[in-house]
Amino acid sequence: MSARHVAVIGGGAVGLSCADQLLVRGHRVTIVERGGPEHDCCSLGNAGYISPSHFLPLAAPGLLGRAIRWMGDPESPFYVRPRPDPALYGWMWRFWLASTPARAHAAAPLMRDLNLASRAMFEELAAETGNPFSLERRGCLTLFQTRKGLDQEAAHAERSRALGMPAEVLDARGVKALEPDVTVDVEGGVFYPLDAHVTPDRFHATLSQRVRDRGGVFLWNAESRGFRQDSGRIRAVQTTQGDIAADEFLVAAGAHSAALVAPLGLGLPLQPGKGYSMTMPAPPEMPARPLLLQEVRVAITPMDGVLRFGGTLELGAWDAEINPPRIRGIVRSALRHLPAFREEHFRGLRPWSGLRPCSPDGLPYVGRFRRWENLSMATGHAMMGLSMSLITGRLVAEQLSGERPSLDLTLLDPDRYG
Ligand SMILES: Cc1cc2nc3c(=O)[nH]c(=O)nc-3n(C[C@H](O)[C@H](O)[C@H](O)COP(=O)(O)OP(=O)(O)OC[C@H]3O[C@@H](n4cnc5c(N)ncnc54)[C@H](O)[C@@H]3O)c2cc1C
Repeated sequence: MSARHVAVIGGGAVGLSCADQLLVRGHRVTIVERGGPEHDCCSLGNAGYISPSHFLPLAAPGLLGRAIRWMGDPESPFYVRPRPDPALYGWMWRFWLASTPARAHAAAPLMRDLNLASRAMFEELAAETGNPFSLERRGCLTLFQTRKGLDQEAAHAERSRALGMPAEVLDARGVKALEPDVTVDVEGGVFYPLDAHVTPDRFHATLSQRVRDRGGVFLWNAESRGFRQDSGRIRAVQTTQGDIAADEFLVAAGAHSAALVAPLGLGLPLQPGKGYSMTMPAPPEMPARPLLLQEVRVAITPMDGVLRFGGTLELGAWDAEINPPRIRGIVRSALRHLPAFREEHFRGLRPWSGLRPCSPDGLPYVGRFRRWENLSMATGHAMMGLSMSLITGRLVAEQLSGERPSLDLTLLDPDRYG
């Protein structure tokens, strides 16, 4: 297939990964980004996990029930912000339908393959660039304060091994042996050695630089407001900097992607899942690898001498506002697990927020729409947008280049909700 001009809408980790892979295949790329060169987005302040261990989609059995129980607790890690919005309730209904063991089981091999393929691409990128984004391959340790939680995770570990990925169940002594420099108050944990982590803002900067070096053009402060189209083809994307004509259009605008394509008659269920992080410059103790406090959904990641704490998923929250009780929830959860840490270590840390783009079945939307011959989508990765960014870029670039995608895209079809 001949080289095309592709307009990529959105300059987060997913849009940039797609741009990079399209440029590698000889296409011309313009990135349409509503922010400036220093813009913030969900891809910057996240926990940095590359997580093959997360092979269950967000729509896993039991989560919605737990969320409803947590509704009355302002510090809880999962929350649905109630508002009279049919899109939100439609999303929740589909989420509930998708939250069955059979659906989670069917999605698990694909989730594994996406994460493992992406992990391999992170390794290649680190080797090619000198690893400025600090890829670390030390696995991830999930931690539990209750026997019940640990037993449930042991079942997950069993499934992980059945999928060909090692996982080791540890008691409190085993946790101490793996993390001798950190004091933890836990019943035990599970070690997933294939997991890895990076420093996300430096990963984003590395991708931006590569895209620039390969001739990609950034159109900054250009908010996409709609499309010009005729006879089933998109002709141009309308932006606050004027219309951009192209041969192909890829929407990778994170949580805002669905609103962009809605006027084209595409009703894609997508909700923001707001989360927060705080980065501690001088922690009293430093773990060697990411610690995931699974029962309270707090991710703790060492990133080159600093320690990041991330958590909370506020479904349906479109704003970037910091909600102090949720921040308190993250801090209290961390303090309960890490006795060497004190409130004052968190004092003065500036909380960051980001909107995860969440599909109801927990699987991303990757690929072309049927209704528009030159329009594609890459979003909906929820808590795995960094982890799956590179493989998403490859899959999109393969499809737009007329190649057979290296993984089956059927479950990721952006038209799957009609
Ligand atoms: C607290 C927290 C922790 C997380 N931890 C992890 C983790 O450890 N591992 C992991 O894999 N994932 C994690 N995630 C999820 C991950 O950050 C996201 O899935 C990922 O960043 C989504 O990337 P994206 O490129 O799709 O969206 P974004 O990064 O949001 O980028 C979208 C871009 O589109 C632009 N845009 C939006 N609308 C328009 C428009 N109309 N016109 C032009 N441009 C537009 C935005 O300005 C933005 O730059 C975490 C998220 C949070 C909140």
